[in-house]
Amino acid sequence: MDRVRKILEKINTDGSCEIRFAEPMSEHTTFRIGGAADAWAAPRSAEGLGKLLAALKREGLPFTILGGGANVLVGDLGIRGVVVATEGLASIRTEGSSIVAEAGALVDGVCRAALESALSGLEFASALPGSVGGAVFMNARCYGREMADMLGEVTWIDRAGMPRTMIPVRGEWAYKRTPFMPGGAAGGGIIVSARFALIPGEKAAMEAEMGKLRADRVAKGHFDWPCAGSVFKNDRRFGRPTGKILDELGFRGKRIGGALVSPKHANIFVNSGGATAADMRTLIDAARNAALAAFGFDLEPEIVFLGDFRQEGFAAGNGNPES
Ligand SMILES: Cc1cc2nc3c(=O)[nH]c(=O)nc-3n(C[C@H](O)[C@H](O)[C@H](O)COP(=O)(O)OP(=O)(O)OC[C@H]3O[C@@H](n4cnc5c(N)ncnc54)[C@H](O)[C@@H]3O)c2cc1C
Repeated sequence: MDRVRKILEKINTDGSCEIRFAEPMSEHTTFRIGGAADAWAAPRSAEGLGKLLAALKREGLPFTILGGGANVLVGDLGIRGVVVATEGLASIRTEGSSIVAEAGALVDGVCRAALESALSGLEFASALPGSVGGAVFMNARCYGREMADMLGEVTWIDRAGMPRTMIPVRGEWAYKRTPFMPGGAAGGGIIVSARFALIPGEKAAMEAEMGKLRADRVAKGHFDWPCAGSVFKNDRRFGRPTGKILDELGFRGKRIGGALVSPKHANIFVNSGGATAADMRTLIDAARNAALAAFGFDLEPEIVFLGDFRQEGFAAGNGNPES
């Protein structure tokens, strides 16, 4: 911890990042769950991000990228090393018929900017929690469309710290799969900004569509409790959505400690108050084991497990630090 502090203070003499130590991750995740990160650093600009990443690599300090925290479960023991938060990179601008947004900009803000400019194509993502970087990394999908459908270009920093540009090509982008995930062609890459290629639209119709989808999320209880959206991916081979499978297994309303399967949707698990990561992970494992035992279906978690789960005896997170 002392080493982390020393290195970060040395790196940040120009104040290009906001830095906090022993930062509770429960304050940075929509689950409102997670122990403290050794350090949390939020660069104030893309240049600051590049400089921070280069220095962390040089010093051999592990780091974890965090956007809006809307798709992650952080262990109760927190995160070792540095959480690099993108929230300070939040610019959004219109360029012709495109919207260019930095990684930390909220997706909902990008949708509103597109509406302001009467540029159509992103209405489906209205009210989707989280940042542009997280949505691109996850290829976030809703109402039959996904981020990759609208992406014109992504700027990113590769594992070696080099700035890169990618024009997304079909094949590498699929249902909840992107080249930025572990094992992908750009695995370990950090998304800096994205250009969304849109078309001129009719403002009133766009606004009506966005309002309808937002209302649908509200009706489905998405914002009733702290949560991270769907816990498991859907899998066509199973013949029905995961929520339906978990309903058949009687999981709706099931509780372990403060972790609860939403009474409104069996694939959304919520923090009903005071849930720990251990509660949530135990409930997730229970659902997974039940589906395997009853149907032979191995449900794949959609949410990313970050940080230290060892005390609870769970396997390590699947989204643990790069160094
Ligand atoms: C109420 C609710 C409803 C939801 N509904 C949906 C839905 O309909 N469809 C859907 O797909 N998702 C849904 N989600 C999940 C979530 O909104 C999306 O996955 C979102 O895209 C996550 O973005 P984020 O910025 O919060 O990512 P985070 O949770 O911060 O991070 C997710 C992953 O992306 C990585 N990451 C983040 N930023 C970067 C970056 N700049 N470069 C590289 N890696 C990065 C992180 O390291 C992590 O592995 C929902 C969540 C909630 C809370």
